[in-house]
Amino acid sequence: MSKSYYSNKSALESGTWVKLICGASNEDLPSITDLCAVYGAAGVHCVDVAADIAVAAAAREGLKWVENKLGKKPWLMISVSDGTDIHFRKASFEPRFCPKECPQPCLKVCPTNAISETLGVIEDLCYGCGRCLPACPLELIKEENNLLEIKDFGPLVSRIKPDAVEIHTAPGRMKEFERSVKAILQSQVQLERVAVSCGLEGHGITKNELSKELWSRYECLRRYKQKAIWQLDGRPMSGDLGIGTAKAAILLLEKIQPIAPPGPLQLAGGTNEKTIHHIQSNHCLAGIAFGGFARKLIQPFLIEAKKQNKKLIECPEALNQAIKMAQVLVNPWLRKGFGEKC
Ligand code: SF4
Ligand code: SF4
Repeated sequence: MSKSYYSNKSALESGTWVKLICGASNEDLPSITDLCAVYGAAGVHCVDVAADIAVAAAAREGLKWVENKLGKKPWLMISVSDGTDIHFRKASFEPRFCPKECPQPCLKVCPTNAISETLGVIEDLCYGCGRCLPACPLELIKEENNLLEIKDFGPLVSRIKPDAVEIHTAPGRMKEFERSVKAILQSQVQLERVAVSCGLEGHGITKNELSKELWSRYECLRRYKQKAIWQLDGRPMSGDLGIGTAKAAILLLEKIQPIAPPGPLQLAGGTNEKTIHHIQSNHCLAGIAFGGFARKLIQPFLIEAKKQNKKLIECPEALNQAIKMAQVLVNPWLRKGFGEKC
């Protein structure tokens, strides 16, 4: 077995695990390759992409680059939903309805520059993060569902053959969760982990109710002989650009840690470069996932490469700079290790 196999697993145990959430929809594919290459080279243990053949192929290209150059093999995780959560939506609006005097706050909040003054939302660049929706004072921006059904999970996992699958679930969806697990396992693909992504925000439930929901999923995964990662979504797919949001995932960890089922706890949603400063000595966690903030950090390099009609992995100087920037975000987590006291 490869060294990477052990290092990804031991990172979960030692609290040094870092995951890149690489975009939840069929966004601009060269960027996915580059994001995976840059953050893979910076040391992440896993990249998490939408359950889509094209997206997974683009991610694999980046991961292959990392393996060839550095011998590391981050896991490829694909994300599915047992409901209709926001991860599988894209934004859209008609620019002709926008008043000329609008200061265009939607353009400013979009981490991927997916909003064009004249074209509206550029579908290939939009990864459904939802930031632009509340930004429009006239509520012109809507979400469009891009839903994958549970019955599609098995064939899709068979084709993609990921190392791990993440199920985005929500309170009250235990039956759908179990159906999802069964469908995924029909693929016969040996998975390293089944990650479970769940949060409190927007569900109107208490931490004890969330704990019960997680425990029932734990029992389910045990029945099917699968190992979990518990992804605590402080702010699901929003707010990770602002300084004040860094605490959201930590607050959820504090609530859930004492009543969580066994298995590694990982922060997500609202995570950014400030999150690490909020970790206390009594926190017990496996690591962190970075999403929009990680992308934003290297976005200028992605844009520049695109202007030259190249991938970033084809521009050595810019690539090295991008990797250095990514390391600034990732390295503190790789060094620190939060799992020893768990
Ligand atoms: S802010 Fe998010 S949802 Fe809106 S267009 Fe940009 S990527 Fe898409
Ligand atoms: S904020 Fe709303 S009205 Fe203004 S440009 Fe964006 S979509 Fe149009």
